[in-house]
Amino acid sequence: MRIEIPRTHPRYESLVIRERLVEGFEKGLAVPQGLIAHGRGECFDYLIGEKTIEPALKAMKAAVAALLLARHPVISVNGNVAALVPDGVVKLARAVGAKIEVNLFYRSEERVRKIAEELRSHGADEVLGVDDAVATIPELFSERRRVSPRGIYVADVVLVAIEDGDRTEALRKMGKTVIAIDLNPISRTSLAASITIVDNVTRAIPKLAELAESAKTEPRGNLEEILRNYDNSEVLSEVLNHINRRLGELSEKIRREVRSPGEP
Ligand code: ATP
Ligand code: MG
Repeated sequence: MRIEIPRTHPRYESLVIRERLVEGFEKGLAVPQGLIAHGRGECFDYLIGEKTIEPALKAMKAAVAALLLARHPVISVNGNVAALVPDGVVKLARAVGAKIEVNLFYRSEERVRKIAEELRSHGADEVLGVDDAVATIPELFSERRRVSPRGIYVADVVLVAIEDGDRTEALRKMGKTVIAIDLNPISRTSLAASITIVDNVTRAIPKLAELAESAKTEPRGNLEEILRNYDNSEVLSEVLNHINRRLGELSEKIRREVRSPGEP
């Protein structure tokens, strides 16, 4: 790390995450556009309170059920995810028996290779999407449409994070269950996904891995029941209500505590 961040800093966690992403950028894993996307995410993290909220936990439980029940689950990894939570991705993939595939909006073969190497250095056995991204997702025009015929192309459940709306919609149109991790509850991705986890990937991915470890031995019937009872619109609405309530409380607090200039 290039700068020493004091532990007592009120934004400590957030600053450490920024440093990790900048390091990932310098190593060639993330692109400048990824840094900007992270800033948009941070804004929503500020609004939810920079912690895992109840509706996110509910979505995570459904996500774990969907991944464990899937025939062919795949975790899609981009530069930001590889820079921020490589360990978590490998642990989660192992816990649910998912394949890992690199998929980039701004694709370059060199960056794909670097991301795959990074994941392997964190213990991934196999990383798809490197030399085998030869199938295409219909209706997508970015380089992101190129996918592995053994991975995303044939997957029934795909976990995406920090993802663009067009691609999420295209994956849904292909009939896949899409689990999205996205801090913005009203992004196109959040609205289009089958299961939306409104949380920071740095908290959500390790938590998903932990939940998956303990749900692994659950009877299938229990997992199916969790999925059947899951309602994504309800969860998104709970997230917005959480933000609304928080802002309402904050507004009251400011009115009580912050005085205008000249007031005693
Ligand atoms: P959409 O295309 O879905 O409408 P967008 O164009 O606003 O979204 P993109 O850059 O396409 O945004 O996607 C990035 C998404 O990832 C944003 O919604 C952003 O809030 C979210 N995001 C950024 N950093 C993180 C993070 N660390 N954890 C979770 N979500 C994040
Ligand atoms: Mg977008």
